[in-house]
Order: sequence, then C-alpha cells, then structure tokens
Amino acid sequence: MNGVEVNDTPLFNKIALIGFGLIGGSIARAARAQGLAGEIVTTARSAKTRARVMELGIVDAVLETNAQAVENADLVILCIPVGACGPVAQEIAGHLKPGAIVSDVGSVKGAVVRDMAPYLPEGVHFVPAHPVAGTEHSGPDSGFAELFINRWCILTPPEGTDTAAVEKLRAFWAAIGAKVEIMTPDHHDMVLAITSHLPHLIAYTIVGTADELEGVTQSEVLKFSAGGFRDFTRIAASDPTMWRDVFLTNKDAVLEMLGTFTEDLSKLTRAIRRGDGEALFEHFTRTRAIRRGIVEIGQDSAAADFGRPHAHLGKKPE
Ligand code: NAP
Repeated sequence: MNGVEVNDTPLFNKIALIGFGLIGGSIARAARAQGLAGEIVTTARSAKTRARVMELGIVDAVLETNAQAVENADLVILCIPVGACGPVAQEIAGHLKPGAIVSDVGSVKGAVVRDMAPYLPEGVHFVPAHPVAGTEHSGPDSGFAELFINRWCILTPPEGTDTAAVEKLRAFWAAIGAKVEIMTPDHHDMVLAITSHLPHLIAYTIVGTADELEGVTQSEVLKFSAGGFRDFTRIAASDPTMWRDVFLTNKDAVLEMLGTFTEDLSKLTRAIRRGDGEALFEHFTRTRAIRRGIVEIGQDSAAADFGRPHAHLGKKPE
C-alpha cells in the first residue's frame, strides 16, 4: 500500500467487522493488505450479501449474527448506520471477550456514545471512531484498501478509557494510512456539522430544487450541469439511510450551523439585490483562499476540475 509499511505480527488476533459496506469493506481490505489481523470476520444481514462477501475472498468468515461474529474478537468495529449502533451494542454485549476493544465508524459521535455505552460490559474498552474519508458509493463492492491513506480518523474515547486501548486503536488506523486525532464527541459533532453535514444538506437541497423547477426543464439541468450543478450531485448521491441517521442524531449542531449559514446567505442575497459588487468580490476572494488551503495541506488534489479527464480537440484540417 502507498507509503504504509506492512506488519509482520498482527496487531489483533481476531477482528470482527459488523457490516461490510463502503467503510467495513475498506477496513477489511486495508487490514488484510497490512497483515493487521490473524483472522477477520464480518456479518451481513442477507444471504445474497453474505455470498458476495465470501466471493470477494477478503475475510475469513461471514456470519449471520453479530453475536457469533464478536465471539473471541479482540477488536470489534461497528460499520453500520449510526441509528443501528445502539441495538447492535445490546445484541453483542453478552458475547464480547473481556479486554476487547469495541469501536465504530459512525459520522456522528455524541449519539453513538449515548446509545452504545450503556450496554457495554465492564472490562471492554469502548473507543468510538470516525474516519473522515468516503465516497458516494455503498455496499460490499464499493470499498478499497487505500480509502484511509492520508485522511483523518477522529477518536472520541469517553473520559477514563484505558489509554493502552486508545493507543492500540490509534496504531490500527495509522497502519491503514490514517492520521489520528482525539477529541470529545460534542466537539467532533460541531466540527463535522460544518465540514460535512451542512455541505451534504446543501447538496441534497440544491439537487432537489433543480429537480422541481418549472421554468427550466429536467433535460436542461442535466445537459448544462457542468456549470457547477454536477459537483453537488456527487454528494447528493450519498446513501439515504446513512444521511437520514446523521441528521436525526446530530440535530443540535446541524441546526446551529444552519442558523449561521442562513444569516450568511441573507448577507449575500442582500449584496446581490443591492448590486454590492465589492461585498461579493471580497467574499469570493476569502473563500478562494480556503480552497487553496485545503490543497496546500494535502486534503485534495490541485488538479483543475477535480482531475477530470478532458477530451482533446482534433487537429484542424490544413
Ligand atoms: P454502506 O456501504 O451502506 O454499508 C452499511 C453496512 O451496514 C451494510 O453492510 C449494511 O448491511 C449494514 N447495516 C445497515 N443497517 C444495519 C442494521 N440495522 N443492522 C446491522 N447492519 C446494518 O455504508 P457505509 O458508507 O459503509 O457507512 C457505514 C457507517 O460509516 C455509517 O455509520 C456512516 O455514518 C459511516 N461513515 C460513512 C462514510 C461515507 O462516506 N460513506 C464516511 C465515514 C463514516 P446490509 O448490506 O445487510 O444492508
């Protein structure tokens, strides 16, 4: 794997991944590639998905129940929608090995801690996590081992969590290429509300608005989408279950950010109405610098047009 060393001795004897979608499947592929587990098992609810995961040949076993999967596992990671974490914690609680690390990958942390912690027994180390990496694809075929390279993974261990367990999970994420940061669940939810949740909400809104316009036809929206619209459609194609759960569980932080956003939108609306070119120019100059900053710290490529390939013009006849 790109710039990440492969381990000789596995970090964990057995890893159980509950859910094998984009994130679970990517963790499995990366952990396998890096030799981080003696054994990797996973679960899937339908026989069809279980058969497909076995066919992919990345894990050692695909089990029907989450309880079976976590038996004897040293690391258990819930890779399922945020709203499903509480019920699954309840289901696995009585089957966890003492000393096991239990984690998740949910995009919201306060709700996951609130929903899972009450079920987890003494002697099990709960270290919630959120890899800030993804694509708009989902399902067992969508994952890839390189997803986490040079991306951040935020850990939000509750106060008093065993530091050795936190460090072991940090080492796991670092071994699959991620940079790790630790913060409180509430702070995580506030930061992600502006960097991820609000942008998704805006994309879902704008794509929905374009779909319902009366004066512009659907085919015109699609045909002229390169004017900016298509970049929103990628985000708005994200999994509906995952994003429903994000907005239901990070309600307060999202509403707070939405309030600030609405005020700023009103300022720009006023500038347009009043023909205040100076205000618009000053605002757009400031935002351009933010884009440059993201490229400078390596969180996106500097390639024009997101690196999309462009056709070449044929030679003019002489
Ligand atoms: P995904 O590709 O749709 O996979 C979701 C997995 O969860 C599937 O294996 C699905 O199983 C399983 N699942 C769904 N509901 C379940 C339930 N009630 N009980 C047990 N298993 C259930 O989704 P994903 O993108 O990997 O997202 C998983 C988690 O990662 C979410 O919490 C999300 O917030 C977080 N996350 C996502 C991204 C991203 O960009 N996508 C980035 C960072 C974190 P079936 O196949 O049986 O339905």
